[in-house]
Amino acid sequence: MAHIEGGCLCGRVRYRADAEPAFISICHCTDCQKFSGSAFATVVSVPGPALQVSGTLKTFTKTGSSGKPIHRRFCPECGSGIVEEADALPGIAMLNAGSLDDRTWVKPHSQIYCDSAQPWVRLGGEMKRFSKTPG
Ligand SMILES: [Zn+2]
Ligand SMILES: [Zn+2]
Repeated sequence: MAHIEGGCLCGRVRYRADAEPAFISICHCTDCQKFSGSAFATVVSVPGPALQVSGTLKTFTKTGSSGKPIHRRFCPECGSGIVEEADALPGIAMLNAGSLDDRTWVKPHSQIYCDSAQPWVRLGGEMKRFSKTPG
């Protein structure tokens, strides 16, 4: 079983999860670009109950393309995005890969919302590409 550990930039929020990631994806949707402040988000999803967070997260909730809310949780002190939970994917916590302590093992297997990817982005590796979602 994988031991996943990470936290925010200022260190007030820490988390751990002893679980195998359910999926690792890159998301090019415009909301993930806004939230991360970067060209795309890389998410490592783990079973929600396996995730233990210490420190206080603030939550911003917005309706996703599924029509259901997505809860984006971040450190209120330094603003680091930590985890997303989508009502459309119950029981799954999507950790932002940049917040992991050890990122060397992260290998995304898919890219979603490629329709809204920034035009310069060309990523290597063998990833399935979806114009929106696999569903
Ligand atoms: Zn912080
Ligand atoms: Zn997204």
